[in-house]
Amino acid sequence: MRISDVLRGKGGAVVTIPRDATVRDLLALLAEHHIGACVVSDDGESVDGIVSERDIVRALARRGAAVLSEPVSTIMTADVRTCEPAAVIDELVAVMTEGRFRHVPVVVDGKLAGIVSIGDVVKIRMLELDAEREALAAYIAAGST
Ligand code: AMP
Repeated sequence: MRISDVLRGKGGAVVTIPRDATVRDLLALLAEHHIGACVVSDDGESVDGIVSERDIVRALARRGAAVLSEPVSTIMTADVRTCEPAAVIDELVAVMTEGRFRHVPVVVDGKLAGIVSIGDVVKIRMLELDAEREALAAYIAAGST
């Protein structure tokens, strides 16, 4: 299974936020879309950074509520690990596990083409396991007749 298989199911839409938006704006965006991370992008296509609920929690713990009025760029991760649609899901799981992050933006020719979360990966794994189980059950049933 490849990343393109994941995107076929969920589409390529990505919620982005510009660098100069405030952390307060980010909170509203994450809540509105029921998501845990957002790609930071000034033009909606390039990946300028990524920011997740963990960055907000860390910044609040260190610097207090004043951080809510600061730009997102002060808490984002600028060195973003991205992948291409042709990447194999197993490789991406390894990257997420090693890097300890749960979101990877998908990029084609330098432009955002989707985002994959650990939740998307778990969902597609469950579907794969279900299909395998059904195939095995059918195989066993065919053999017992
Ligand atoms: P997450 O597990 O996705 O909530 O992110 C945990 C930490 O990793 C946060 O500091 C994020 O900014 C950072 N992060 C999330 N996704 C990526 C990524 N694809 N590349 C680099 N850092 C990331």
